[in-house]
Parts: sequence; C-alpha cells; structure tokens
Amino acid sequence: MQLDRLYADILSPNGQNNRMHFEQYFELEADSKGLVIFDRDGTLIEDYKGLSRSDMVKWLPGRISSLAKLTSLGYTIGISTNQGAIEEGLISVDDLLAVHKDIVSEAQKAGIKIWAIIFCPHSKVKSGKMCNCRKPRPGMILELHQRFIVTNPRLVFFGDKESDMEAAQSSGLCIDSILVDTDNFSKRVDEWIGTDDNF
Ligand SMILES: [Zn+2]
Repeated sequence: MQLDRLYADILSPNGQNNRMHFEQYFELEADSKGLVIFDRDGTLIEDYKGLSRSDMVKWLPGRISSLAKLTSLGYTIGISTNQGAIEEGLISVDDLLAVHKDIVSEAQKAGIKIWAIIFCPHSKVKSGKMCNCRKPRPGMILELHQRFIVTNPRLVFFGDKESDMEAAQSSGLCIDSILVDTDNFSKRVDEWIGTDDNF
C-alpha cells in the first residue's frame, strides 16, 4: 500500500462559520464493504486538548489491531473529529494536518488504510454558536456519505461520547452507532463484525 494522496479541502462555505475540512489519503475501493467511521479523541487515541504534534499521539489499546482487521476484511476507514482547538487558537490547521498525516502513515505501517479524515474547526465556546458540522450535529457524516461513492454505501459509527451517537443517529445514514470506552473497543468492533450481514 502506498500513501498516494493527501489534500485538505475547505467545504461548502455557507457563511464563514460553516466550513469543515476533508482530507483524503487513499483512493476509494469500489467494492468496499462499508465505511466504518471513528471518532478520534478518546476513541482511537488519547484525548489531549490542543494536540499539535505527532509525539503527543498515543493510540489506545487494541485500536491498531482492530483497524488492521477491518482493513483486511475490506472495510473502508474514516475518522470524524471535532477540533474546536483550531478556532480557539490552540492549534493551527497546518499542525493538525501534519499530525494526521503522521497518524495515517503510522497506521499504514500496521496494514491500516485510513481513507479520510474530516474535522470541524469550530468552537462553541469561542463563537457562542453551533455550526452544522460539530458533533452532535451530523454535518461531517453527511459529507463523508456524499464522498463515499461505492457499490454498497453503508456507514457505521464508533465513538466514545453521546454526541458521537447523536450525530450518527441524526444523520439517518448509519446502520449502527456504537458507543465504546477505553477498554471494550476491540470487543465492540469484533461483535459488530460478527453481526454485520454484509460480512
Ligand atoms: Zn463546524
């Protein structure tokens, strides 16, 4: 596998405070079994507000092997993450993109293909209002769904917060939304694979 593409895109500027960023790292495979979307902080890696360098990234237990399994079974992997630290001025978009590129590269060494990462840079604290992309709103999932052009466009969401579940459920697009904690992640992923009718 090769890291064949990286770009950051600013989407649908319906007014200044309604943009999100989409990064794509691999070509979509038309025969994908489905898009498995993960929250980032607290779900895949340790939650660290203001994470701005790759040496601050700590993968939580079992994540690498579960994501490698999903990749090898033919699922597509995406990440959807609230990054209000950008609007709050704690980190820059460039820092975040560099961290994401390193996360994708490191995962790739373990046999994981992270197709895309989408993030909302808005802070409710800073702006005092809620954008359409920040979870619990479903904007990022709607955008991933639009870009997930495959034969069988199924979506599932794993996250560690109620706001993740709410975003997945209110999108109306996810066949499952699964709440995980630090310790049960691999178990939940395995259970889901076991019940997925497409598998
Ligand atoms: Zn947003």
